[in-house]
Amino acid sequence: MKQSKLFGKTTKEIPKDETSKNAQYLIRGGFVDKSMAGVYTYLPLGKRVLTKIENIIREEMDAIGGQEILMPALMKKEDWQTTGRWDIDVMMKVKTFFDKEYGLGWTHEEVVTPLAKKYARSYKDFPFSLYQIQTKFRSEKRAKSGILRGREFSMKDLYSFHTNEEDLDKFYDQSKNAYFKIFDRVGIKEKTYLTFASGGDFSKYSHEFQTLTSAGEDLIYICDKCHIAVNQEIIEDLENSCPECGNKKLKEEKAIETGNIFKLKTRFTEAFGFKFLDKNGKENIPLMGCYGMGPSRLMGTVVELSNDEGGIIWPKEIAPYQVHLICLGDDEVVIKEAEKIYESLQKEKIEVLYDDRNESAGVKFKDSDLIGIPLRIVISKRTMENNSVEIKERLSSDTEFTSLDGLVGFVKDRI
Ligand SMILES: [Zn+2]
Repeated sequence: MKQSKLFGKTTKEIPKDETSKNAQYLIRGGFVDKSMAGVYTYLPLGKRVLTKIENIIREEMDAIGGQEILMPALMKKEDWQTTGRWDIDVMMKVKTFFDKEYGLGWTHEEVVTPLAKKYARSYKDFPFSLYQIQTKFRSEKRAKSGILRGREFSMKDLYSFHTNEEDLDKFYDQSKNAYFKIFDRVGIKEKTYLTFASGGDFSKYSHEFQTLTSAGEDLIYICDKCHIAVNQEIIEDLENSCPECGNKKLKEEKAIETGNIFKLKTRFTEAFGFKFLDKNGKENIPLMGCYGMGPSRLMGTVVELSNDEGGIIWPKEIAPYQVHLICLGDDEVVIKEAEKIYESLQKEKIEVLYDDRNESAGVKFKDSDLIGIPLRIVISKRTMENNSVEIKERLSSDTEFTSLDGLVGFVKDRI
């Protein structure tokens, strides 16, 4: 992509009410545009990052047998009334001209349970799990945390269906592992803790995945021995001790919830009268689990954790581009060589953002730091004198040089 043609620009100006780091960097870097409080447009750079995160989640959900579907965002009032959740305060409601009311989905048990009931009737149809990545809506009283807590946001929600508890437990554990694989690939695993939370009516615990950040609104209590944490809401029930090892020296930290998994058991299947025939031809109620994770929130969390005063530092797997090629000066020979590099990298399917703008070196470097692509290649009259280009990794302050001939091979080794 030529930067001169890229829609969206870096800017020094950010809306006054944006106090969170993620919103400030993402708006300044031209990744997102604020539409209103808690509602953002993803510009081309931001959309690329979001899509990469969604695809990582997709791969890991497919790997544990999840099947992707897409459910409607507009949902039937009657189904929410069936489960008694129509009047929950996070629900956004829409009313038509003819006074018919609908709910906008903030979760999808009310769609997926009747759907599963329609297709799964025999024990032979189980187990199965369905997921979607979709826009969700929440009526947030305050939305001040950028894309960490939006009124409209992207969400992966998976629902699993089982004939017995053992099978639900097995899938529940698999999903824990899958979640940590995702955190690893987006670069936040080290700071993310499996966190014990209240299980509601049906289970002793549910689990959250909490990532340490000063931008977080949750307080968690960490056991260093087990690398797990306890949510503030249940810490008193546990007498301030670790549920795994009994350790009483837990560390209080601020964190943000980057995922949650929950054994719903028969909470929704029962409400919708969902039954299946077991091996003996007897009717039984299936068990359910739900597993949530927000790609847009993950993106915001990565920005909160991975930045310096110059801007964002994207982990390799989710950077908008793999390489930032910067051409300095207006010398025609240099520009021609830069074009050649741009084309040869693209031919090798390497994702390149090519800064071909007529701007000063200072402006280009500043923008490059802000945008945060992991590998930077600089070509100028000076580097050309030695038939070379300058290479700099976003994370490092060192620069090195490599020959023009060996450049493509060099880049392939680094990305
Ligand atoms: Zn412990």
